[in-house]
Amino acid sequence: MTKKFRVFATCDIGESIDRLRARGYEVEVYGSPEPPPKSLIVSKLQSGIDGLITTLRDQVDAELFEAGKSTLKVVAQYAVGFDNINRADANRYHIPFTNTADVLTEATAEFAFFIMGALARKLWSAEHLTRENQWGFWHPYLPFLGDEVTGKTIAIIGTGRIGLAMIKKSTGFDMNILCYDPVYQNNEYVKAIQEMKDLRHARGICREKCWIRYASLDEALKSADYVSVHVPLLREGESPTPTFHLFNERTLRVMKPTAYLVNTSRGPVIDETALAKALRENWIAGAALDVYEQEPLPADSPLRDPAIEDRCRLYPHFASAAKITRLSTDPERGMAGRCVQGLMDVLEENYGGDVTKMPYVVNKEAFGK
Ligand code: NAD
Repeated sequence: MTKKFRVFATCDIGESIDRLRARGYEVEVYGSPEPPPKSLIVSKLQSGIDGLITTLRDQVDAELFEAGKSTLKVVAQYAVGFDNINRADANRYHIPFTNTADVLTEATAEFAFFIMGALARKLWSAEHLTRENQWGFWHPYLPFLGDEVTGKTIAIIGTGRIGLAMIKKSTGFDMNILCYDPVYQNNEYVKAIQEMKDLRHARGICREKCWIRYASLDEALKSADYVSVHVPLLREGESPTPTFHLFNERTLRVMKPTAYLVNTSRGPVIDETALAKALRENWIAGAALDVYEQEPLPADSPLRDPAIEDRCRLYPHFASAAKITRLSTDPERGMAGRCVQGLMDVLEENYGGDVTKMPYVVNKEAFGK
């Protein structure tokens, strides 16, 4: 390394920072676990930063790009979702930004599957019963029963990386699968999953024949016992098929009253006021949520209503929160490793300095010839 780059990280991403320092980078890490105020990021950028490491907690927009315009060369986002980054602004200022796709796919999908099971089989209520010494007897149906996951029908909303991984996990539980994605339909994957299902049946591994197919949104919602959401947050104007409030009074009413909704994507994909109403009024059986319209979840959120607490599982944006996934310094395994590699690719002009060839850069469209 010859040139010394200056990097500011808005939070500590572990040992991967040492990899930068070992290469001669001057790296400042914001020390507090809470996000830094935007004004602090602005002043860091004004002081001459080459690379900025961000998380989904930081609002990255024209104000930051303007502050960094004399030296900033890359924003490296420690997440796959980048709805906190104003892509149009990044493009206008000609700043590439990177994300950490792929390395969190399996962890996020398995978490979605686990919270779906925790919700359906009432694990939270059952543990409370045990801990609070309310477990008086074994009984065929008292004090409550859960719903099976095995053999049921799941709707996968968004068949990108995490949606496909969720399909794979659901296949292991012999679920029928309805897929919905207006933008990207992976028919080869669906065909391979069907072949796997057919083989499991033919070889006596599962009793019933199971199926998978693409469907319309309403058809998927109308027929599914479980609905799992795996879309990016796309607001009006950002996509011909925005996902903001994709789940609202209308779509929640299309779901079966016995169905469960699982959201590990982004909070604003669900209208929480509508969801709380749907739970209170039993339009659907339950919901398991990892993400919220406002994070952390406010103390007065209607989702905290004690009347629905046995049917509403709440988690703290935790789906990728597994040790290797979050912290591995290996760019093929960990978000931290991939984040740092994305930063280095741009600053060190890897791939012949051609941003369009750098695998972790998101906004390649701004750099075409
Ligand atoms: P991806 O881009 O591979 O897949 C998203 C899919 O959604 C794409 O196939 C896209 O075509 C589809 N889509 C777009 N608009 C749609 C619409 N209106 N209806 C249905 N589908 C639509 O992304 P990914 O890696 O699978 O991640 C998905 C999202 O999950 C991320 O954007 C992020 O917000 C979220 N996420 C959350 C956590 C967490 O900790 N809870 C962790 C990882 C990812």
